[in-house]
Amino acid sequence: MPTIFTRIINGEIPCHRIHADEHVFAFLDIAPLSRGHALVVPREERAMLHELSDASAAALGRALPRVARAVMAATGASHYNILQNNGALAHQAVPHVHFHVIPRFPDGSGLGIRWESRSLDAADGAALAARIAAALGS
Ligand code: 5GP
Repeated sequence: MPTIFTRIINGEIPCHRIHADEHVFAFLDIAPLSRGHALVVPREERAMLHELSDASAAALGRALPRVARAVMAATGASHYNILQNNGALAHQAVPHVHFHVIPRFPDGSGLGIRWESRSLDAADGAALAARIAAALGS
C-alpha cells in the first residue's frame, strides 16, 4: 500500500503544492500548527530518516532551506521550527519521511515545545560518543 504522501505526490489526493523536483515534493500541511506550516517529503517512500538513500537525503538538505526561505517570505514570519519525527513514540503519524516547516508567530502559533533537559554524565557521555563514532565509522 502506498503511503498517503505517495498518493499525494502521485496526484491521487489533492494538496496545496509548493515545490516539486526530481527527489522532493512539498505542500501545505492539512492541519497546520500555524499559517504556512509545510511538509517537505522525499519521493522515495521510506518510513524513517535513517533509511533514506544519500540522493534523497542530499536533495532534502538542498530543498529545506529554500522552502523555509519561501515560507518566511510568503507569511512574513521570521522565526520557525523544522520538525522531523521518526516512529510512533516520537509522534510520527505518517510512515513516510517528512520534514515539517513550522513558522512561529508572536501570537504563539507554531510548534509548542516541552524540553526537559537532563545533565550529561561525563563517563557515560565519553562511552556513548565513542560507540556512536564507531557506528559511524568516524
Ligand atoms: P507526523 O506526526 O507524522 O510528523 O505528521 C504528519 C502530518 O501530516 C500532520 O501534521 C498532518 O496534519 C499531515 N497530514 C496527514 N494527512 C495529510 C493529508 O492528507 N494532506 C496533507 N496536506 N497533510 C496531511
